[in-house]
Amino acid sequence: MVDKIKVSLLGSTGMVGQKMVKLLSKHPYLELVKVSASPSKIGKKYKDSVKWIEPGDIPENVKDLPIVSTNYEDHKDVDIVLSALPNELAESIELELVKNGKIVVSNASPFRMDPDVPLINPEVNWEHLELLKVQQKKKGWKGFLVKNPNCTAAIMSMPLKPLLDIAEKSKILITTLQAVSGAGYNGISFMSIEGNIIPYIKGEEDKIAKELTKLNGKFEGQQIIPASLDTSVTSIRVPTRVGHMGVINILTNEKVNIEEIKQRFRNFKSLPQIKNLPTAPKSPIIVRDEEDRPQPMLDVSAENGMAITVGRIRHENNVLRLIVLGDNLVRGAAGITILTVEVMKELGYI
Ligand code: NAP
Repeated sequence: MVDKIKVSLLGSTGMVGQKMVKLLSKHPYLELVKVSASPSKIGKKYKDSVKWIEPGDIPENVKDLPIVSTNYEDHKDVDIVLSALPNELAESIELELVKNGKIVVSNASPFRMDPDVPLINPEVNWEHLELLKVQQKKKGWKGFLVKNPNCTAAIMSMPLKPLLDIAEKSKILITTLQAVSGAGYNGISFMSIEGNIIPYIKGEEDKIAKELTKLNGKFEGQQIIPASLDTSVTSIRVPTRVGHMGVINILTNEKVNIEEIKQRFRNFKSLPQIKNLPTAPKSPIIVRDEEDRPQPMLDVSAENGMAITVGRIRHENNVLRLIVLGDNLVRGAAGITILTVEVMKELGYI
């Protein structure tokens, strides 16, 4: 029997943390052994510290685990630390762990755009993990820091990858319609969003545009050369529970063959598919031909939430248009973290 990889989870009681607890409970070789939450919960059992909202019960192997702190001492005997900490707390906590030799894979935003920190969406840019060798040399850290993209950037980067030859020569306009779960457990009150639409998400538009250039960039020996994507983003909060949608308009004068574009999406495969990794979707991009798809209610859980769905692919008046949908908590956060760990194991980083 193969030895399991021991995993700690910071932010285990939040929206992303709970999804991670659930996905890890079924994992063939990652074993969740430590859970952390805010300081007032330290010492309590996980089941008494969480307002569980995932379907089904709290996994047996986790419900009685005691909540530990985020200090290095509480995590020194695990192989890898996963972080779903709030952005404003993550930097100092994650750095302490990495400086002490831990491998940290994190959902939080600090360091995402640091030139020495890989920002990974496995199917799009697993090769960027090579940057970890540069990171250790330049930063002098004993461990590794790997970041996951913003949830919307993770989802939108997938269809852009097979379209890069067109996208890099065009202006891109993206309007995102983002679910309430994207704001975290206590993010938006029911009274603010029920029956409503909020046309602003703080910090989101700029983050998405910048992260798309890094995600789709090329690793060249010592650094990532960003993709030249000229993207303007408008982000809107909508009253759905899970699933971020993007209306992508690529302004291009080129002749576009829609069937060939659909084929590019359908054929899109990368290392996670080639290596048949446990969390990898068989088809990372699903194409729907119906005129009213994708819809969060019908499509968000495609391939257990790890595939994105693209529909309404058209080319009209020099605009290549598509509608994209993905699960913000799985493909945008918990699932992408676990898939990144699987790739790191496959490549020998763990
Ligand atoms: P969340 O629901 O607010 O959860 C935050 C977690 O951090 C909870 O477990 C919370 O524990 C813990 N925490 C709060 N203060 C703490 C402290 N002082 N020390 C230790 N732990 C503390 O947030 P989320 O939506 O899961 O997001 C987590 C991270 O993932 C954020 O950086 C976010 O930007 C990123 N992200 C979120 C999504 C999404 O769709 N939601 C997608 C991609 C990335 P308590 O329960 O004890 O408060």
